[in-house]
Parts: sequence; C-alpha cells; structure tokens
Amino acid sequence: MTTRATQLLKWYDANARELPWRAAPGEVPDPYRVWLSEIMLQQTQAVVVAPYFERFLGIWPTVQALAAANLDDVLAVWAGLGYYARARNLHRTAQAIAQAGGGFPDSEAALQALPGIGVYTAAAIAAIAFGAHASAVDGNVERVVSRLFAVYVPLPKSRPKLRTLAASLVPSARTGEFAQALIELGATVCTAQSPNCLACPLSDGCKAFAKGSQNALPKRMPKPQRLTRHGVCFWLVKNREVLLRRRLPKGLLGGMLEIPGTPWEAGAWGHEAALEFAPTSADWQPLPGEVRHTFTHFHLVLTVITAHTRSGGNLAGRWFAIDDLETVGLPSVFAKVAGLALKNPGIGPSKEQSGSRAPRGRDLL
Ligand code: SF4
Repeated sequence: MTTRATQLLKWYDANARELPWRAAPGEVPDPYRVWLSEIMLQQTQAVVVAPYFERFLGIWPTVQALAAANLDDVLAVWAGLGYYARARNLHRTAQAIAQAGGGFPDSEAALQALPGIGVYTAAAIAAIAFGAHASAVDGNVERVVSRLFAVYVPLPKSRPKLRTLAASLVPSARTGEFAQALIELGATVCTAQSPNCLACPLSDGCKAFAKGSQNALPKRMPKPQRLTRHGVCFWLVKNREVLLRRRLPKGLLGGMLEIPGTPWEAGAWGHEAALEFAPTSADWQPLPGEVRHTFTHFHLVLTVITAHTRSGGNLAGRWFAIDDLETVGLPSVFAKVAGLALKNPGIGPSKEQSGSRAPRGRDLL
C-alpha cells in the first residue's frame, strides 16, 4: 500500500463520520444499503440524505420490498430530495434486481447496465459493497486530486487526467474504505472554499499546498448562464381541497404531483394567454407575489392565479385536502407555490365552513 493510502486510511479510521449507511468496522457491507445511499447521494449532501435514507429503509428494508412498492409511494417518500429521475430509476432497478433473484451484480460494467447507475456510482458500489479495485471519482475526489497533483487544466477538460490520477491512488486492500475516505476528505477537510491543509493527512505530499495554490484549484471553465423561464399555476379550490395532477412520466419532475399550470417559457405570461391552460372556466384571480425556483439548467418564476369551484367534475386531476398537502409528496417548487397561495387570505373556506373533508387524493377520473 502506498504511503498516501496508508495515511488516508489511518485518518479515516479515526475521523470517519457516523453515517447511517456505513457498515461498522468488521461488518460486511449490505449492497442494498450501499446502492440506496449512493443513488441518494448523487448531487445531494450526506446531511440531507441521512433522514431520507432512514425513512426509506424503515418502509422498504429490502430490495424486494422496494421492488414491490407502488411507484407513487416511492416518489412521495422521495419528495424534497430533488432529481426525481433518481427515484424512478431506483424503483426500476429494484424490480430488475428482485426479478433476477435479489443479488446485486459486483462488477462495474454489470452495475452500469442498471437504470440510474453511472460510472461513479458503479465504481462506488463495486468498491464499497464488494471490495473491487475501483476508483470512485465524484466532485469531492476531483477537487482533492486536482490539488494533490496541482492540475491547472480546468474542469471538465481535466476530467480524464483526474480519473487516471485518482486510479493511481487506489490501494490493493481496503478499497471500499479507501473510496469512502477520499470522498470524506473532500467533504470535510479539502473543502471547496476553505481547505484545512493543516489538519490534512495528505498535506506532506500535496503539490497545491506546497505552492500555496490550494484555494485556486480546481480551475473550472466558465458555466453558461442559466436562462429564466416563466409559468403560471392554477390554484383551484373546492371547499378545503385543491386540484393537483400528475406530471408525464418522463422529463423534469416526471411522474410527480404538480399544481396545474402553463408550460414554462422564456417570456412572462399575460393573463388571457395563461387562461388557455386553465383546468376549467372560472373567475380566475391573480394572487400577489411570485415563486422563484432554480433547476440545474434554468431559473423559474411562477405566478399564481386562483379560483373557487363548486362542482369540479370532469377535470383532469385529483382533489387533495389542503390540510394534507405537506404529506402528499409535492416537489419543492410546487410546495413553494402552495405556500404562496396559502399565505393569501380567502383562498378557500375554513374547515368549519366547508363541513366534511374528502379523503386524501380522491380521484376525479
Ligand atoms: Fe486538500 Fe490541503 Fe489536503 Fe492538499 S493539503 S489535499 S489542498 S486539504
């Protein structure tokens, strides 16, 4: 084992954070837990993932249980974690694994053939769950390696070189712990804004630290500017219920619940143009304020118009009790829209006025 690997593993043994998906020393890692955590950790910090991971395991303790789950329930429990394609792929992979007998493949190539598992995730699962000699390179590892070897070529151009350099660090034993240690170092010591080089187990051989250039690395190509899109949401109320509908299965927020609305386009919507997309004819009134939300590739500005209806028949969607909205699994952007609507007085009659409440999510169609 190289000196760097020995130093890093020694540091990890003493400093690893306690995270719910990590196997205890001497414990054999459970591939289901490793896979579930790695999918959740894509683009998401460990501190955010931890409660979701525990909730998922509590509801679906095995891959077979997850495979047998209703996709809508999986999406509802995932709500708030973002990047919802991960949840759909999670469900598809669980079904593929369960159909194949319940065992996860142990090679990077076979893992990559499963939905939602890319190069990094396959390497991480292979190393952590199966002890494969694999190099898992996420953003944390790219940062550590670019500093360790003082790579000045900007990302993403430097990516192939960083992968080669990262692979050169992988020891012949304890590969799973090494993979986690390198990621942990990037997450807790070699951080983007303030690398703590004096506490780093690799500072002796770090070229960036030797040159004092750790804060300047990794270099990055300038990102293209995010566009802003605009949309209008229709907050249609019947007693203490609001109309929601399910988005198409593919694409952004695919398969998730939404508040009905216009398409999201480059220019702001006029009231009349927006009404062409309203779920029904009604006395639609604009609400003050707007909702802003940022997706990976664009900013979104939503305004809200509201109306009351008495009949509500023949509408595409489902009525949900307003008092249950926090638990139905609305994606964050629509939870913000609901928050804006509910801040406005007179949106709907109070529970006392409306009498009995409909069951949650009663189908209209
Ligand atoms: Fe990162 Fe500093 Fe450690 Fe180098 S010495 S790997 S820059 S924390």
